[in-house]
Amino acid sequence: MVTMIKNILWDIDGTLLNFKIAERKAIDYCFEKFGLGICDDEMLKDYSRINHKYWGDLEKGLCTREEVLINRFHDFFSLYGFDTSICEDFNREYQLALGETCVYCDDSLEIVKKFKEDGYKQYVITNGSKLAQDKKLVKSGFGKLMDGIYISENLGYEKPSIKFFEVLNNDGINFNDSIIIGDSLTSDIKGGNNAGILTCWYNPNHMLNNGEATANYEIDNLSDVEKIIMSI
Ligand SMILES: [Mg+2]
Repeated sequence: MVTMIKNILWDIDGTLLNFKIAERKAIDYCFEKFGLGICDDEMLKDYSRINHKYWGDLEKGLCTREEVLINRFHDFFSLYGFDTSICEDFNREYQLALGETCVYCDDSLEIVKKFKEDGYKQYVITNGSKLAQDKKLVKSGFGKLMDGIYISENLGYEKPSIKFFEVLNNDGINFNDSIIIGDSLTSDIKGGNNAGILTCWYNPNHMLNNGEATANYEIDNLSDVEKIIMSI
């Protein structure tokens, strides 16, 4: 290796794995299971908007993880006049269903395997819930390829909090030879900015950066990660 990078810190949802497809399948499964009929695209869009808002609030420390998981469905169900007393059961089923569908972003599994063969240390850094993420990691095959798994629910801190990254640092992961690869400006890239870790923004849909965080690198395909790392 001629690069200074030794550690690759991967986000999961929307980075290694396609979250949108998993979300759609999980919602469809749970709607069927709970007899709620069909969740059309407009409804899913409403749910996604509510969900996104709650995760944003959690990143900012404005609410708890439990509130995110339950209240997102409470708000969504209220909007459509569904029985809100099923939110907790629905959420649990949804978490499990989310872990069932593993669709890789680009060639993510092959890319991670190659980095492992090349001697890099790789870690997962995710704000997802333990129930869903553990299942995804096993099912996708990423779990056994990683040198460490950092799930915010286990740590008690969320990205982009510096406290999340301090846990990695305490485990001996040196920030100076690490890079974060993630699709979220507000959690992954901002987290890197807060902790002083190089960042690579995975932006396959060419979204605009509204200035909330500054990425050192930007890619639209994970196959470019190696090129980026070799240039550092
Ligand atoms: Mg993500």
